[in-house]
Amino acid sequence: MPENKILVAGGGISGITTAIEAAEAGNEVILIEKLPYLGGRVALMNRYFPKLCPPYCGLEINFRRIKDNKRIRVLTSTEITNISGNKGNFNVELIKKPEFVNENCTVCGECEKVCPVERPDEFNYNTSKTKAIYLPHEMAFPYKYIIDEKYCLKFNCNKCLEACKYDAINLSAQAKIINEKVTGIVFATGWKPYDASLIENLGFDKFPDVITNVMMERLAAPNGPTNGKILRPSDNKKPKTIAFVQCAGSRDEKHLPYCSAVCCSASLKQAIYIIEKEPETKIKIFYIDLRLSGRNEDFLNKVKEIKNIELIKGKVGLIEQNPENKALIASAENIMSGKIIKEEFDMIVLATGMQPEAINLKNIKCDESGFIIPEFLEDGIFAASCSKKPLDVSASLKDATGMALKAIQTLIG
Ligand SMILES: Cc1cc2nc3c(=O)[nH]c(=O)nc-3n(C[C@H](O)[C@H](O)[C@H](O)COP(=O)(O)OP(=O)(O)OC[C@H]3O[C@@H](n4cnc5c(N)ncnc54)[C@H](O)[C@@H]3O)c2cc1C
Repeated sequence: MPENKILVAGGGISGITTAIEAAEAGNEVILIEKLPYLGGRVALMNRYFPKLCPPYCGLEINFRRIKDNKRIRVLTSTEITNISGNKGNFNVELIKKPEFVNENCTVCGECEKVCPVERPDEFNYNTSKTKAIYLPHEMAFPYKYIIDEKYCLKFNCNKCLEACKYDAINLSAQAKIINEKVTGIVFATGWKPYDASLIENLGFDKFPDVITNVMMERLAAPNGPTNGKILRPSDNKKPKTIAFVQCAGSRDEKHLPYCSAVCCSASLKQAIYIIEKEPETKIKIFYIDLRLSGRNEDFLNKVKEIKNIELIKGKVGLIEQNPENKALIASAENIMSGKIIKEEFDMIVLATGMQPEAINLKNIKCDESGFIIPEFLEDGIFAASCSKKPLDVSASLKDATGMALKAIQTLIG
């Protein structure tokens, strides 16, 4: 068999899957991730369907497979800056940004205690803060602290350096350029949530109790900003009434013209876990169509049995605030009855869609929404899962496994 060396860009569940499948079939793999930890968006979930397990059910076993496999080299805080050459013989240039903390870190936490600076925590979609030296989250892989260069006072402070007993901190670390020769490349660069502040009529920027579906995942997660308690951001009180606004910016030529395929299942999942935590909460889900596939249809059957969840066919066109009691007012037309609804809620969740992460490389052609067009990729370069279109985890895993096989076949024929 010819010797493959495959570069996988993106350390979410898809890239991890491609990397493991290729390596366990005997190939060398470099797995790069632009963030300082692996796991992608799945790591940020409270629980994921269809089985509603916590993210670490799936991720932990994969982290173990990576640790046990000498053929996989993981480079975090790394991106591709250039690709040249061709199938079987690519030259890739990578940039690895400094993390300032090395593998000597034991996660003792002494550095964090003395760090005087705070930064917004992107892991909680900026709804909480960490110190400038921080552990990305308690199950992070690699399991070590890192420093946010934008906020660290470096040698004007030095406190973390003085507190570290393990010689784990290097405040002078610099970005490194790494050149690698590889036989095939797989992009598994995934998605990001659509920017809700662009949907002005839905008031995300104006009202703190209008949140997005991804923020709801963090709010409900035991390792989230409220330790899993469903509290509305404005006053930390339990919301008694919650509305879900489906297709917030999706299937809309002004925003995302496509359906993200997971938002209906995601909102039903979230409504179910909110009721499990707080059975008295009254939830209304406003939708255009409910698009559920396969086993996710079960959520609909379950939701229909829960008396405190109501499904309303109608698109919310406006969110305002009652100046007297500060309640949020959602306006929609109930398509079934033809009546205009104007109803008050304590909290509103916008089901925003999935947008591809941008890739700025001349070799990679994307459509007008930014998804990679696989038919236009050079031989030996492949795209997996959400880099091509919105998918759920189960479909992403199948596609990522297929792309591992394609990359393995690069040197054959
Ligand atoms: C609100 C919501 C809830 C959801 N709930 C569920 C659920 O319950 N069940 C389910 O099956 N699916 C769910 N999904 C979908 C699920 O999140 C995706 O299927 C999954 O994240 C796809 O994984 P991925 O690895 O393809 O992408 P991602 O999770 O986005 O991972 C991509 C990784 O690539 C990295 N990356 C990006 N660009 C680069 C680059 N240039 N270089 C290096 N690295 C890069 C990113 O930092 C990231 O770590 C939900 C989606 C939403 C919006």
